[in-house]
Amino acid sequence: MPVVDVYIGLGSNLADPLRQLAGAIAALAALPETCLIAQSPFYASKPVGPQDQPDFINGATHLRTSLLPLELLDQLQNIEQHHQRERIQHWGPRTLDLDLLLFGMQTINEPRLTVPHRELANRDFVLQPLLDLAPELTLPNGDTVAELRQRCPDNQLRLLNPAPSSLATPRPED
Ligand code: ATP
Ligand code: CA
Ligand code: CA
Repeated sequence: MPVVDVYIGLGSNLADPLRQLAGAIAALAALPETCLIAQSPFYASKPVGPQDQPDFINGATHLRTSLLPLELLDQLQNIEQHHQRERIQHWGPRTLDLDLLLFGMQTINEPRLTVPHRELANRDFVLQPLLDLAPELTLPNGDTVAELRQRCPDNQLRLLNPAPSSLATPRPED
């Protein structure tokens, strides 16, 4: 089976966000046919859309998987469900949001799945953790994450200290 490097964006602003993200990372590490390679630091950011909700905690995770893109999306949505995620309001508060940011160098346009994630270039809370994980990362269209980060609107990103990077350390390829 081909193995692909993928990047997942994590976000939470309800019910103890740090605990939500730690649980999500453990669940990602336990996915079938998937290996957790590295976890970014976490950041606090102002919400996108409705402002009458708590700040978000965001991070990104680097996985290596032989799941297909839609299989991985199913798994991400399963994990969200286990975290009692409810979809009440678009861009509203949530216990856990897992977005598939990049799936190797694939461009995917399906009803349930757009990759790279369609808002990637507009969100510093996505680009900064990606940059932390992979400073040389490039999108399928050739844009570098570093360039996109420089051009991206400011969302008042704040690095959380101490960074919970000890949750996952890179390990050798299987
Ligand atoms: P945004 O997409 O702006 O970050 P959101 O994360 O709040 O918004 P959701 O309600 O979590 O949006 O997801 C809506 C739908 O988006 C999902 O049901 C899923 O099928 C679809 N989707 C499309 N592309 C992706 C992707 N790359 N990662 C995750 N979901 C995606
Ligand atoms: Ca999202
Ligand atoms: Ca989502």
